[in-house]
Amino acid sequence: MPFAFQNKTIQTIEDIDVADKIVFFRADLNTPLENGVVSNDTRITEILPTLKYLLEKNARVVLASHLGRPEGKPNPKYSLMPVADRLSEMLSRDIIFTDDCIGDGVKKLLQNPNNKLILLENLRFHPGEETNDPDFAQELAKSIQVYVCDAFGTLHRDHASITGITKFVPVKAVGFLVQKELQHLLPLISQPKRPYAVVLGGAKISDKIKVVEQLLKKVDRLFIGGAMAFTFLKANGIPIGTSLYEEHMIAYAKKIMNEAESRKISIFFPRDFHIAKDINGTSATMTDSIRIPDGWMGLDVGPKTITYFSEHLQGIKTVFWNGPMGMFEKPPFDTATTALAKSIAKIDATKIIGGGDSVSAVDRAGVSSEMTHISTGGGATLKFLQDPRLKGLMTLCS
Ligand code: ADP
Ligand code: MG
Repeated sequence: MPFAFQNKTIQTIEDIDVADKIVFFRADLNTPLENGVVSNDTRITEILPTLKYLLEKNARVVLASHLGRPEGKPNPKYSLMPVADRLSEMLSRDIIFTDDCIGDGVKKLLQNPNNKLILLENLRFHPGEETNDPDFAQELAKSIQVYVCDAFGTLHRDHASITGITKFVPVKAVGFLVQKELQHLLPLISQPKRPYAVVLGGAKISDKIKVVEQLLKKVDRLFIGGAMAFTFLKANGIPIGTSLYEEHMIAYAKKIMNEAESRKISIFFPRDFHIAKDINGTSATMTDSIRIPDGWMGLDVGPKTITYFSEHLQGIKTVFWNGPMGMFEKPPFDTATTALAKSIAKIDATKIIGGGDSVSAVDRAGVSSEMTHISTGGGATLKFLQDPRLKGLMTLCS
């Protein structure tokens, strides 16, 4: 059934006929590579239900994605070849991999009805992808009968393969991944089960201003950790040593705190910190209060904070977490993030994780399967929470 979105409707792949049709399937296969091999295949796994469905329904699939930032030029470093290899292993079948996403090579392959699964080389090897050049979009759409989008992580981009192409293809639909993301994320902005808590961390508030503003209109409790907390603490006159903070965001932090107070939203700040003299963590130690001595920087929140946050997360019915509690890439400063992940995993609530680093932190803590939903979106997820009218969704509405 098509679903309602912004007073319009969006078709799903189950609403359209794909048998024997040439389907352009835009996915987000922007996977991390190490030594030319896919080092994390989550993004491939996430599109398998849609891909398998299309193949079972006898569609001829032209799979397309970007990878990294090759800046409009072919660059072997960003080839999708390793993705083709991994996908072929996962599906136990051959995949035809093209060396360009447009042109005569692709055209020839599409003329042969026996070619059922083609993966195109990186869309961003052409500048027209990111500039949304209509000629490039039309070129991509050549011979295509159906457009299916499951690239949730790229839906906020006005790129040729996301928006431009849809003008040249008569039938359009979303896949199972986009449906799943919407099913879990829409309630966060419409009707979250209450009490609703948001846990924010990460490096900068400036990255997340708009989403914080939107969340403030919805939440009951807000927990702030990570380096982001220091701008708030500084705004309250608390000594933060040499910790990372944003001077130009102090006034904004005050505004957020005032607004929270007038809306009767409780904001929970850290109570202690794991501190060091520098980011290499030499001579790391714990504070026993919120105050950080001169010459020291907070690189993680401390154990009292985790207990305090965990206590106040009890009874919550919805929790959205974005942003690690500390510099979690560098042990021991991953301690609080891991502890919080485990603590959130135990709560009996709708638990949603968003943001690239938060998702990998939850994965490293080994509790991904205990979360209700791990959003694949990163930046797209935060954009969606600010305003769900992502370009890539609006273009599929009818
Ligand atoms: P996400 O990708 O989940 O949205 P962010 O990108 O906003 O998260 O934040 C993650 C980054 O924040 C990490 O690189 C982490 O090292 C950094 N960070 C968190 N806390 C601190 C801190 N106290 N000091 C320095 N960096 C921090
Ligand atoms: Mg990040």
